[in-house]
Amino acid sequence: MRWKTLDLQGWGRTSSGACQAARPERVAEAVAALADADDTGILAHGAGTSYGDVAINPGGRVLLTRRLNRLLAFDPATGEVVAEAGVTIRDLLRVFLPRGFLIPVSPGTAFVTLGGAVANDVHGKNHEGAGSFCTHVRWLDLLLPSGEIVRTGPDQRPELFQATAGGVGLTGVILAVCLRLKPVSSNGVVVTERRIPDMDGFLAALEQVEVGAYSVGWIDALSGGGALGRGVLQVGRPATGPVPVPPRRDRSLPVDLPGFVLNPLTVAAFNALYWRRVPAAGRERVLAYETFSYPLDAILQWNRLYGAAGFHQFQCVVPAAGGPAALRRLLEETSRARAASFLAVLKRLGDGRAGFLSFPRAGYTLAMDFPHRAGTLALLARLERVVREHGGRVYLAKDSALSPEGFAEMYPEADRFRAVLAEVDPAGRMTSALARRLKLRRAA
Ligand SMILES: Cc1cc2nc3c(=O)[nH]c(=O)nc-3n(C[C@H](O)[C@H](O)[C@H](O)COP(=O)(O)OP(=O)(O)OC[C@H]3O[C@@H](n4cnc5c(N)ncnc54)[C@H](O)[C@@H]3O)c2cc1C
Repeated sequence: MRWKTLDLQGWGRTSSGACQAARPERVAEAVAALADADDTGILAHGAGTSYGDVAINPGGRVLLTRRLNRLLAFDPATGEVVAEAGVTIRDLLRVFLPRGFLIPVSPGTAFVTLGGAVANDVHGKNHEGAGSFCTHVRWLDLLLPSGEIVRTGPDQRPELFQATAGGVGLTGVILAVCLRLKPVSSNGVVVTERRIPDMDGFLAALEQVEVGAYSVGWIDALSGGGALGRGVLQVGRPATGPVPVPPRRDRSLPVDLPGFVLNPLTVAAFNALYWRRVPAAGRERVLAYETFSYPLDAILQWNRLYGAAGFHQFQCVVPAAGGPAALRRLLEETSRARAASFLAVLKRLGDGRAGFLSFPRAGYTLAMDFPHRAGTLALLARLERVVREHGGRVYLAKDSALSPEGFAEMYPEADRFRAVLAEVDPAGRMTSALARRLKLRRAA
């Protein structure tokens, strides 16, 4: 296997480092690359759309999985597809949506690989009804650090499955995924949008959305006072019949925007525009599934908006009881710091999760972007404190700043995860910057 030095970054571009990278095209090459790993450790890297340091291994090795991207089998009677781990959600939608099958759970970008979706047990805008991604996985083929390939699922070596679903790549390299797709009668979504004036209004409106719909709140995290938590609520429900898909024009941001362009004034102006874009009486549109689900995918490399210094995304979930108070404090801290960028995202989550380190739990999840500036890390530490005080947790897929003590408090099943790692990887060959930062291998 050829190894090449590559500077890998998280999507937020604040976490980065030189790694020795190999790009296997076949399973045998992945097996050989893993066998070749030295004591600097190794990690699989999918599409690199995790924001922080979960997918990088500076000073060590990474296995780039994007060329392990074959579709292996499909059963139209059950909707079960078997695909290599480097296949993306976008690949699956292109092939299967025209045939009446939809991905049951998707994050807000279609560029993610199946391996990445499993390793973070990702969630979508339908989490309350649909659960997390891995609750739709029947089995995985996993290349263990020992070089052995095993099949694991909810009914086969379940502890290994629970450690791999949301296990941030530390149990081995996922080679193939068997996923149940969802039969649908339309490729479209009926989307209703309405303005919501404040936090209480938002929570009440989210409460009224039926389980099974897609729902997401876009919040202006700069507004405070009586307008704290104002924003736009989008709800999507299945359309009937075919919906035209607008031709894709991949635009990309060719350069880093200078850091000063994004300041509280320009961001406030953007947020106000977003709010006014929706008529006061609300509106309803029928959109193709991709248009509704992946607004940010329309601009490739949009992360350059934040300039060369990059940005952090903070995503947490807080339990429903006490949730409103926690959300208010998080937004107050953010609004006071005048640090947020663009819109924050608010969603309800249910209990559906598959792994020991899976993020979702019933409650509210809030995600906010912060350009990396003086004071940003101190703000993130304050937000972590609020989340800890309210019994919530921070999402590892987005994280670059959580403390090991915070992790230990937020992820009570971490010891069950560690017990599986001790069994399948006693020498600690699989590792990442996040694993080292949060001391995932031993208790804090
Ligand atoms: C615009 C945008 C919107 C997003 N919206 C959401 C959202 O709504 N919900 C949500 O949950 N997430 C969301 N995310 C985060 C993203 O979905 C997750 O970080 C996802 O896991 C990334 O997949 P990836 O292929 O890019 O994996 P990477 O980021 O490359 O890697 C992620 C993790 O997966 C591991 N991994 C990757 N491939 C394998 C493999 N073959 N075997 C073992 N481990 C592997 C890596 O080691 C790493 O730990 C969003 C990200 C962006 C940029």
